[in-house]
Amino acid sequence: MDAVTRPVWAEVDLDNVRHQIRRISDHIGSRPEIMAVVKADGYGHGAVPVAEAALEAGAGRLAVALPEEGMELRAAGISVPIQVLGEIDINQARIILEYDLIPTICRQDTPEFLQKLASENEKTVPAVIKIDTGMGRIGIQPEELNSYYEKITSFSRLKVDSLMTHFATADEKDKEFTRKQYCRFEKAVQKLRENKDKSLEINCQVANSATVIDLPEYSLDIVRPGIMLYGLPPSREVDQSFDLKPVLELKAKIAYLKRVPPGTPISYGSTYITEKEAEIATLPLGYADGYPRLLSNQADVLVNGKRAPVRGRVCMDQLMIDVSDISQVEEGQEVTLIGREGDSEITAGELAELIGTINYEIVSRLGKRVPKIYL
Ligand code: PLP
Repeated sequence: MDAVTRPVWAEVDLDNVRHQIRRISDHIGSRPEIMAVVKADGYGHGAVPVAEAALEAGAGRLAVALPEEGMELRAAGISVPIQVLGEIDINQARIILEYDLIPTICRQDTPEFLQKLASENEKTVPAVIKIDTGMGRIGIQPEELNSYYEKITSFSRLKVDSLMTHFATADEKDKEFTRKQYCRFEKAVQKLRENKDKSLEINCQVANSATVIDLPEYSLDIVRPGIMLYGLPPSREVDQSFDLKPVLELKAKIAYLKRVPPGTPISYGSTYITEKEAEIATLPLGYADGYPRLLSNQADVLVNGKRAPVRGRVCMDQLMIDVSDISQVEEGQEVTLIGREGDSEITAGELAELIGTINYEIVSRLGKRVPKIYL
């Protein structure tokens, strides 16, 4: 365990990452390979430790958003295939080559610059073709697959690792659009096979966490679970009975405790004024640590297993809570901002709902300033 001096930290339970990988394997069977998505510093949990835990438990590949994130994994000695999910810029291509990363490609100019760099380096680059079947983000249109595939295979230094698409609404109860996207993908792949060779060996990958949970029949050759690895459900609409164990708890020690009279304003803008005598605790973290300012006067924190409300505005590095109704509170005592104490729990999802966002954003914003303790 790294020495942590800051009285704010996140506890990251890597056993639970391993648990999630095993549950995914049970659910989808042994054929599909699990590509653990550890972009955005492992959704705020720390990319390298999460990646190592996922690989130990049976994941075979990793996915990141940026080549620079792949570099970090390679620097830690990780040697499995790493796919970069975002489109790459010409200036990032050098990183793809140097660190043996798998780019996701769909632009017309990418094969040319990859081929050029690959020949200079005497390497072959495996690439993933991204097909846009309804996400409206990056990807060639399904009708373009045959010509794009031909183009890539015409470059001697490129080979096609996989074909992929990404679902826009797999986390919703109504799966009609997801099925439509899947059909578009399947049809494009079928046409490619008809055009090339019916037994063309090529990996197909479409499944994010919501798809793994609700539509395991779409697991195909490779699945790309992200949020579920961290024990968080992709939404409230997917099957909630899937056994996920949250990986991260956010904790802090009370920095300062004071008893204040009725009518005392708390924090910037005096948006909260005590109605009666109150016990106010200051916690030494704020929005610069990723605890959203929008949670001002909204969220609760757990103190001695009980809920204590956030009072006033969340500051950049500090926030205040009201512990008047909780006994035996003292300076230096540990409190939980995300996580469980006894029967009480505050989830990333609860905080997200309070401010109209998703659990993904809450955890991925927890910055490098928050030390991580790996259990
Ligand atoms: N695949 C792609 C292309 C993604 O962009 C993402 C995440 O945004 C994922 C997979 C993982 O999604 P999730 O975290 O919902 O499992």
